[in-house]
Amino acid sequence: MFDIILKNGILIDPEKGVRFNGHIGITNGKIAAVTKTEIYGKQEYDVSGKVVCPGFIDIHGHVEFDAYCGELSLRQGITTTVGGNCGFSPLDINTFFARQESQGFIINQAELIGHSASLRDKVGATNPLKPASAEQLAKMEYLVEAAFEEGACGLSLGLAYAPGSSDEEVNRLSRLAARYGRIVSVDTRMVTGSDMYSLVEAIGIARHAGARVQISHLVYQYGTGLMEEALAVINRARADGLDIRFDSGMYTQWATHIGAVLFNEDYMDDNGWDLNDILVITDKYNGQRLNKEIYHELRTQAPHTAVVVLTGIEEEIYLALTHPFAMPSTDTGAYAPGEGHPQIAGSFPRYLRKMVTERYELTLMEAVRKATLLPAETLGFHTKGRLREQMDADLVVFDIQTIADKAVFGLPDIPPEGIDYVFINGKLALDRGTIVNAQAGKAVRCTKPVYDYQI
Ligand SMILES: [Zn+2]
Repeated sequence: MFDIILKNGILIDPEKGVRFNGHIGITNGKIAAVTKTEIYGKQEYDVSGKVVCPGFIDIHGHVEFDAYCGELSLRQGITTTVGGNCGFSPLDINTFFARQESQGFIINQAELIGHSASLRDKVGATNPLKPASAEQLAKMEYLVEAAFEEGACGLSLGLAYAPGSSDEEVNRLSRLAARYGRIVSVDTRMVTGSDMYSLVEAIGIARHAGARVQISHLVYQYGTGLMEEALAVINRARADGLDIRFDSGMYTQWATHIGAVLFNEDYMDDNGWDLNDILVITDKYNGQRLNKEIYHELRTQAPHTAVVVLTGIEEEIYLALTHPFAMPSTDTGAYAPGEGHPQIAGSFPRYLRKMVTERYELTLMEAVRKATLLPAETLGFHTKGRLREQMDADLVVFDIQTIADKAVFGLPDIPPEGIDYVFINGKLALDRGTIVNAQAGKAVRCTKPVYDYQI
């Protein structure tokens, strides 16, 4: 007798690449049976006609214990989020994980250590346009190593937010990631709206530091007519033996705070962004495009206001995500209810709807693999992203015919449709739209190096 069974589901096993009708038994938070033979549980869920697969792993998020952001992630079928991206993370990784270990959280959280804002601020390298000094760099190396010892799953570089970072700074910190077998996630520098230099630079981290590189939200960086070229650059690097992977959201318009250095006037010019292409998505001017007055007011008085750059070519999303080493991601972050970017509520259901049922870009099997097993392998989560016995019972149950995102700009936090159940560590967390457990998520510390990867 199992604790829980899911009966008669369409089971998707991304490791073996097989799908079959069967049942799943869960005991003590782990998958205890994946079988066609009838089984019994203390609790039983009939999931006939529904897809059952490992929970989605969001390799690029900024949840960081925000309860509402975590809830919106869960509602999309995300069971594990990777925080600390784009160079922003807590500095004390141990305290971060210890908090989740003692209090729980709505989903599992893994964490990267963030260079470009967090580490640099901590050591006093606060000017994003200037390299860190030798002493500051040595201090950062110490902090990165401490974070890896405590279970950070990688180093995150937000070069767009600290374009003054020197090659030495980037490579020395990345070398530590290589030594620990952890990834380096890179939010590329975005020098102009049409450069490949920033991508080549990110690939150089793999070449010079020996690190495995995860390029962040590729469509947000290069989805402006550059995607074919960007993919060619990545493929060439992979053919040279470098482990370059990437993630992308399902939107071309991207969000950040107006105070970021990339909204300095010269950067705006270089990238060809007009004020009118930038939409405010929080606070006083929520829903309005920028003009000169609003731009200056927010930059000087409310630099944390979030804005969206309305840019990009939709087709480039689909082109990027069909790459075999592309993973879907949200780039989600904390917003007040009713505010923000639809990526916070719609990303994964939109990915399945667009890529599988509407456009036939990916088979259901491949779409599931890229949202589960591929990020698990990339990060070294050996018990996640897999549908077999002894694996963590992080599971999502959905209807592939009806799964759909409902969030849009202006109404960015409307939950998706078509997701029946989400289980986190063997506990039912989402029951047909109702959150029934908000503390089932565990801390995901990375403790072992990832060497068993395939290029
Ligand atoms: Zn990000």
